[in-house]
Amino acid sequence: MSGAPVLEVDGVEVTFPVNRPLLRPFGRPHSIKGVAGVSFEVKRGETFALVGESGSGKTTLARAINGLQPVSAGSVTFEGQRIDGLGRAEMKLHRRRMAMMFQDPIGSLSPRQTVGELVTEAFRIHGSEGRDMRAETARLLSLVGLPLDFADRYPHQLSGGQARRVGVARAIAFNPVLVVADEPTAGLDVSVQGEVLNLLNDLRERLGLAMVIITHNLHVVRHVADRMAVMYLGRFVETGKTEAIFSEPSHPYTAALLSANPEPDPDKARDRISLPAEVPSLLARPSGCEFHTRCPWAREICRSTPPPASERAGRVLTCHFPLGPGEHPPERIGL
Ligand code: SF4
Repeated sequence: MSGAPVLEVDGVEVTFPVNRPLLRPFGRPHSIKGVAGVSFEVKRGETFALVGESGSGKTTLARAINGLQPVSAGSVTFEGQRIDGLGRAEMKLHRRRMAMMFQDPIGSLSPRQTVGELVTEAFRIHGSEGRDMRAETARLLSLVGLPLDFADRYPHQLSGGQARRVGVARAIAFNPVLVVADEPTAGLDVSVQGEVLNLLNDLRERLGLAMVIITHNLHVVRHVADRMAVMYLGRFVETGKTEAIFSEPSHPYTAALLSANPEPDPDKARDRISLPAEVPSLLARPSGCEFHTRCPWAREICRSTPPPASERAGRVLTCHFPLGPGEHPPERIGL
């Protein structure tokens, strides 16, 4: 991991209009922020994970990075060039170097194309001058660990893991420098998940890729990510090195997420921190700290005053009362 960042995301916001009057009675906003001012960077050879529950803004942020979703504030810089606000044609050039892997490995593959056609499709779309398609097929299948005779198979003849490998081969066809992978192991058996994660780690090392992984699966994060950001209602609440956050989460939301994640080592198992299930609506963001309606540690100031971002033990977090090692939830005070 060295050199200038491949990707720099600086204060990015993504806003959606609210057009249905019933959804915006008195005082409600006419737009909502799906992503509310997040910043991070990724270098070559590094994996950065975006973690959070459904609706936390992870996928919206990934789509904004890839130019599939307009950015309403902030900037996205890719290989030193600002790309937010670019038109489709200009973005198309960048997409060769910035690959997106979508969820649903089998559903995202056209059932009428063979594996060989699928992995080389990008060359036919973006230009294949001078390329030997058979050689490209062999190269790509070999990179993702599939035998060459898979080139003649159709998607319905593939297992979930094999289909995901084909998806990876499609993503790396143009030798990208950045891969953005949305839930790369979704729908796969646990044993196959490990294979796919090992493949991604291997390709990152061999090809010097920068990777952004979007997931709610904390095993995936621990397996592949050097650094991570925990998202809540479109904001980062804790960002830092993965191992540091896993061994000592400082933000109560991070601690709750990790406590719900079964630990293979019983000595390291955490007491489960149960949260009220209901995530607030983006139409009615809570005042003060937006996590206060669910936080077991919340106090009066949390309801009225947003916590500023602060640095602690090598990570950035937003909490008035960061947790110490092994801290357990108190009785709720004052709310
Ligand atoms: Fe909980 Fe208060 Fe910290 Fe928010 S600021 S996470 S409510 S302790």
